[in-house]
Amino acid sequence: MNSFWIESIEKIKSNGDLEQDTSADVCIIGAGICGLTTAYYLTKKGYKVLVIEKGEIGHGTTGFTTAKITSQHGLIYHYLSKKYGIKVAKKYFEINEEAINNIEQIIRENNISCDFERKDSYIYTSNEEEKEKILEEAEALKYINLESELVEKIDLPFRTLCGVKFKNQAQFNPLKYIEGLVEYILKHGGRIYTNTLCTDIKRENEEYVVYANSKKVYSKYVVLTCGYPFLKVPGFYFAKMYQASSYVIGIETKSKLPEGMYINIENPTYSIRTAKLNDGKNIILLGGAGHKTGEKVNEEQTYGVLEKKAKEMYPDCKILYKWSTRDAVTLDKIAYIGEYSSLLPNMYIATGFNKWGMTTSNVAANIITEKITNNGGMYDEIFKSTRMEPITNKGEMKNMIVDASKSFVVDRIKETKITLDDIQRNSGGIIEINGEKIGVYKDEKGHNHYVKPVCTHLGCMLEWNDADKTWDCPCHGSRFDRFGIAGHSWGRSCHQKFRKLRNARAKRD
Ligand SMILES: Cc1cc2nc3c(=O)[nH]c(=O)nc-3n(C[C@H](O)[C@H](O)[C@H](O)COP(=O)(O)OP(=O)(O)OC[C@H]3O[C@@H](n4cnc5c(N)ncnc54)[C@H](O)[C@@H]3O)c2cc1C
Repeated sequence: MNSFWIESIEKIKSNGDLEQDTSADVCIIGAGICGLTTAYYLTKKGYKVLVIEKGEIGHGTTGFTTAKITSQHGLIYHYLSKKYGIKVAKKYFEINEEAINNIEQIIRENNISCDFERKDSYIYTSNEEEKEKILEEAEALKYINLESELVEKIDLPFRTLCGVKFKNQAQFNPLKYIEGLVEYILKHGGRIYTNTLCTDIKRENEEYVVYANSKKVYSKYVVLTCGYPFLKVPGFYFAKMYQASSYVIGIETKSKLPEGMYINIENPTYSIRTAKLNDGKNIILLGGAGHKTGEKVNEEQTYGVLEKKAKEMYPDCKILYKWSTRDAVTLDKIAYIGEYSSLLPNMYIATGFNKWGMTTSNVAANIITEKITNNGGMYDEIFKSTRMEPITNKGEMKNMIVDASKSFVVDRIKETKITLDDIQRNSGGIIEINGEKIGVYKDEKGHNHYVKPVCTHLGCMLEWNDADKTWDCPCHGSRFDRFGIAGHSWGRSCHQKFRKLRNARAKRD
């Protein structure tokens, strides 16, 4: 099943593929909510903007989000107050609140019909042992969000203990929203090229040359809003972020729907909101069951967890949609927004939204627009993208190193236990022949499709994800489809190599 947001609109119009060399003031890579909001603000300021998108507009994380527009980013305020002080925590709150207003303003000014609704947002627990965390958050918020409230009663059809309520937050249909941004950008001279993969960026004579679809784009400024950046050095973002996957189901029920937006703090996480179908009917979106991308998971541990919760909440419910996506998570819970690297002037980045990219992408678009137009930079310190401090977060750093080295080293020398016969239909796994690791996807008819199970990014060993039928990288979260597309598909040569290896083994045996 596909994302409800993507199905709710026609394909968003663009300028098609990039077919010739061209130039612009600003070249933005990635047409998700962040790239398009940045393009929107810069177009408004009179800049000639060109956006490059490797797939279709909004078909990255933005097309698969749950799209709550809120400054309530988990239990962030107690954490920020303790780590950076109350002033920073308050600033973080204010700019995210401002982002909600900015989104509403864009919607009003451009008459974007995107089901924007103001809603209260709740973070809660049902677990006695976690209650203290909610109390700490409420305490920190006394100095930050004067309107926040510690509440005991939460309008959900299961037992909850307490939570923190933020008033006047919002939700919308993110694809209808970005369709409105695109309309403005194209109408005012901006260009958006789709199915155009950016592969490299070089600095030549004080400007950038962006390489995409074997064509060149010359521009003074480059903005990377492509999620996890494909450039490795300089920047080294892969060393200070990881990718985390989450799952969403859309359910229909005859029961009364809850009024607000909700998320719990324990594991598994359940994120809940309503959404309007095009025929006006409301459904519930239930998201969560997250894990680090690349961890071995199956349907039961992902969609299964959500389906079980949905049935507990609404025994009559019917599942209409199922989808999953991933977002970049930083080690210190704060996004990276600003200069890509001190070595590359006029190149900017916005990434690491920690699954809170609706407001944060608006914050990012404003910071980057301010930087390009040389107009202030009032809150960029909090998000400073070149900060190295996250690397001092020893716990997370250790996790990352363990994951990465496990995949680089241990998995490569470890014996693979399964054989071709162990792989079920519509499933996959890594087998070994004559010391060579081969990724196999066995389709529903029993035909095998072979891939080289090595990530194109930094060469980590891929893992089979049985919930989504994809090959995922445990190091930095790259994802390839069951046939290895978008990655190292061996294609015909892989099949030939596999046959050669199999024959050699047969002879030997
Ligand atoms: C399950 C889930 C639920 C979430 N729910 C919420 C929520 O309720 N509220 C909230 O605030 N946030 C939420 N988030 C986070 C939010 O959805 C993301 O942070 C946000 O959508 C990221 O937007 P983006 O524009 O940075 O990335 P994307 O939407 O991924 O856009 C990046 C684009 O760049 C393109 N691209 C990548 N590489 C290249 C290349 N080399 N060349 C050309 N194009 C390229 C991609 O194809 C993609 O379209 C959620 C995240 C997840 C995983």
